[in-house]
Amino acid sequence: MFRIRFHGRGGQGMKTASRVLGSAFFLSGYEAQDAPRYGAERRGAPTFAYVRAARAPIFERGVIRSPDLVIVADDTLPSVPAAGVMQGVSARTLMLIHSNESAEAWKHRLNLSGRVLILPTIGETAEEIGLPLVGSVSAGAAARLVGVIERDALVEAVRREIAPFGDSVARENERLAVEAYERMAEHAGTVVEGGEVEAKDYTAPSWIDVPFEEAPVSAPAMYAGATSVRVKTGAWRTMRPVVEEARCNRCWWICSTYCPDSAISVSADNKPIIDYDHCKGCMICVAICPSHAIEAVPERAAESAESEAP
Ligand code: SF4
Ligand code: SF4
Repeated sequence: MFRIRFHGRGGQGMKTASRVLGSAFFLSGYEAQDAPRYGAERRGAPTFAYVRAARAPIFERGVIRSPDLVIVADDTLPSVPAAGVMQGVSARTLMLIHSNESAEAWKHRLNLSGRVLILPTIGETAEEIGLPLVGSVSAGAAARLVGVIERDALVEAVRREIAPFGDSVARENERLAVEAYERMAEHAGTVVEGGEVEAKDYTAPSWIDVPFEEAPVSAPAMYAGATSVRVKTGAWRTMRPVVEEARCNRCWWICSTYCPDSAISVSADNKPIIDYDHCKGCMICVAICPSHAIEAVPERAAESAESEAP
């Protein structure tokens, strides 16, 4: 079974990418499953979509955890932990990144042992006209990399999926999808299909116990004024930002200013202090710290480390 994930930002057409690729697989005689996942539904927020394709009925459901191919449409995303680009990426995963930097630079930056390919970013044209061009480019590249989709099936899939946008948009998407398909010719068929996942391979999530709050705090009082201190939004967190003191250069303002919850204060000697009762775990501070001094630690691991501390 092929398992493919597309990562991008809202407005870049990741849903279109999965639909085009899913249709192209279907037209090539495959069973296909494609689905988008949105976080915050707004332009620019990280989104992803995935495609499964097999010659037999597909019973596997849910988000793909062990991808064979990951396509990254926006090269600012790998450094955003919440975007989940690196989830399940292993030595056999092929990564295709839309970027103007080299594959070697990305391999080094992401510490990858698998293969990395680069597609130059589309640039301002796509952004200006706000159409799903990046999605079609991504789908075109993926279609060639899996090696089982003919050019005609890709073209037909683009036409079907982009038709609602009008003829001229469909033509432009088709042109770019085919261009990406041709660019990947030397890597055709290099995506390695993963095996079937069996029930015994399932790993239960590491559940977090969310403490109950008193009803006046958790429900009705939410609508009253001045409750933000009483409501412990820290219970929403799945990842915890942890400051590594040795790397923090005590710039004193960047993380504390960017924190949308004002959960970072600064001590008299310029040390950032995170209020874990109110930090929601958005990881903005992790992404924004120029010296990479804030690490994203899974909440469960952070809790265990805390309880084992002397
Ligand atoms: S942004 Fe980074 S370097 Fe600056 S105070 Fe925060 S943790 Fe330290
Ligand atoms: S993770 Fe988000 S809410 Fe928590 S301290 Fe960092 S910026 Fe603030």
